[in-house]
Amino acid sequence: MANSSQTLYKLDELIHYITHYDELTGLPNRDLFCDRLNQTRSQNDSPLVAVLVLGIDDFTGIRHSLEPEICDLLIRAVSQRVVQCMDRSDVLARLGDGELAIARSELPSLESVVKLSQLLLSTLTKPFSINGNPIHITASLGITLNHLENTNSVEKLLQQADFALHQAKQQGRSHYQFYSPEMNVQLQERLALENSLRGALERNELLVYYQPLIDLHGGRVTATEALVRWQHSTEGLVSPAKFIPIAEANGEIVPIGEWILRTACAQNRRWQLAGLPALRISVNLSARQLEQTNLVEMVRQILAETELEAAYLELEVTESALMNDIDRSVKTLTQLRELGVSLALDDFGTGYSSLNYLQRFPVNMLKIDRSFVQDVLSNPNSATITDAIIALAKSLGLTITAEGIETKEQLDYLQARGCDEGQGFYFSRPANADTITKLLKDSLQSDAASIALATHF
Ligand code: C2E
Ligand code: MG
Ligand code: MG
Repeated sequence: MANSSQTLYKLDELIHYITHYDELTGLPNRDLFCDRLNQTRSQNDSPLVAVLVLGIDDFTGIRHSLEPEICDLLIRAVSQRVVQCMDRSDVLARLGDGELAIARSELPSLESVVKLSQLLLSTLTKPFSINGNPIHITASLGITLNHLENTNSVEKLLQQADFALHQAKQQGRSHYQFYSPEMNVQLQERLALENSLRGALERNELLVYYQPLIDLHGGRVTATEALVRWQHSTEGLVSPAKFIPIAEANGEIVPIGEWILRTACAQNRRWQLAGLPALRISVNLSARQLEQTNLVEMVRQILAETELEAAYLELEVTESALMNDIDRSVKTLTQLRELGVSLALDDFGTGYSSLNYLQRFPVNMLKIDRSFVQDVLSNPNSATITDAIIALAKSLGLTITAEGIETKEQLDYLQARGCDEGQGFYFSRPANADTITKLLKDSLQSDAASIALATHF
């Protein structure tokens, strides 16, 4: 009897441990962190607390450059260093992969928090030695200093600190950033947008625009890229740069992405049935969609449903999306290629641009990021990178497309370097299907042999 109650007691302890602590570091998890902070309210009605969220810079890159066991040891070593910087009454938790949260509820003066932040950032800059290998990292911090008013407050403070961390990371590495009331406005805007995005698809508020891609050797339109827009009831047309990251974070990108793919494939088929020369339709895939287990099946089904030949579908992915799980990405891309669709690496030059990985990903095309094309004539670095990407693509037998061509001079430069395809406001802005249909028909009439955008060639 004593034995079984001891066992039960141990089991109870074990369950408590598993549900409240992080297995890798032995630190409290998010739930326990919230509980502990909430306890401070029993001593004081609305205590002032500082919440710091610490994020290892470029953690995804680090994860992929290290063996998993080494990465785990690194996370442990980081948490141990953080512990050494803390006061005894501070609370520490592991929130996720490369993120820790620290709370100071006893005397959290601005000065003490700044000192703690500086100490944390400088401590983590010193090299780590993991199994004898030196590893260099940096971290950034988002901080909020506020009153805990009710049980929801801890989550709110974590949200504020997380938002400030996001801003800190935008300033580069090893920065800390305090949350400010102005950020509150941005945070509220984001939350409001997130709320109204729920159901946007059902309310028919999403639409797909199309932008032509031009063959720079001959001047024909070879493809159109599908670019989603959100017709918001009060905000007007919302850019995908604003709402796609939100849809990614809350998972809504899955039904939205499927709808975009179906709409774009159906439109492309409609153009073919209207007698226009057959073009590729290029559709952007987000990181979350790449992780969908039924992605390949969904693509196959949509092609069958819309009666579009796979050769006329191209999917665009970014390197950073592929890097989340390289082996899985290679497998998914290979299966997509086996369906007969082509694959483009979007925004090339802004991510890892690693030749090693590039050779493993079965893509057909690289798209040079707009930021390089934009100042290819004024910034020698951009010109060097553009030339190098074109040479790289050619050596790997990949088609090379330049995004964001806005001027004749940029076009001349890219043509002279042998760039294959181009896309940008110089040819056409993204526009709704009716406008693009007219543009395709007009260019067909202006040149019987091709659908060149005659005005520019
Ligand atoms: P992206 O896939 O790299 O698309 C190119 C972006 O560059 C588009 O912005 C396009 O309007 C813009 N652009 C094209 N030519 C020019 C130019 O000459 N000058 C300038 N200044 N901009 C040009 P957009 O439509 O705002 O889309 C932004 C990003 O949002 C896209 O970048 C893509 O990453 C994402 N996105 C758009 N539609 C979708 C979608 O259907 N699904 C997913 N997952 N992401 C999408
Ligand atoms: Mg794209
Ligand atoms: Mg792009």
